[in-house]
Amino acid sequence: MTSAEKSLKISKEELKQNLTPEQYDICVNKGTEMAFTGKYYNYKKPGIYKCVVCGNDLFSSDTKFDSGTGWPSFYAPLKNENIKEEVDNSFFIKRVEVNCNRCGSHLGHVFEDGPKPTGLRYCINSASLKHQAGESQ
Ligand SMILES: [Zn+2]
Repeated sequence: MTSAEKSLKISKEELKQNLTPEQYDICVNKGTEMAFTGKYYNYKKPGIYKCVVCGNDLFSSDTKFDSGTGWPSFYAPLKNENIKEEVDNSFFIKRVEVNCNRCGSHLGHVFEDGPKPTGLRYCINSASLKHQAGESQ
């Protein structure tokens, strides 16, 4: 079992049943989907983006912006306590990893080159998200 799998609060078997192989690779093994391939990078419908694993409310369409990177980008999470940020030194440059605070699923990274008002850019994999249409918050 890898350390990434251990940090998840849901069993690996359960995840394998409920996720596609690509979702599993991203959420559990902290993979990154190819730019411009995810279903939400250019998605503009209002609503809430939930954790694909546990359904936790993560991001709102209100804070989504077009970063041009090919990944869904948000300048703020819906609630700070719904996500967990961890420093990731795996690529020699310091990056801050963003995980779901409820189940531990990997979501993406946060960078400090986002737009106002926060100056942050949450670069999130479409595969980690599930959009729920409706009123944005
Ligand atoms: Zn979750």
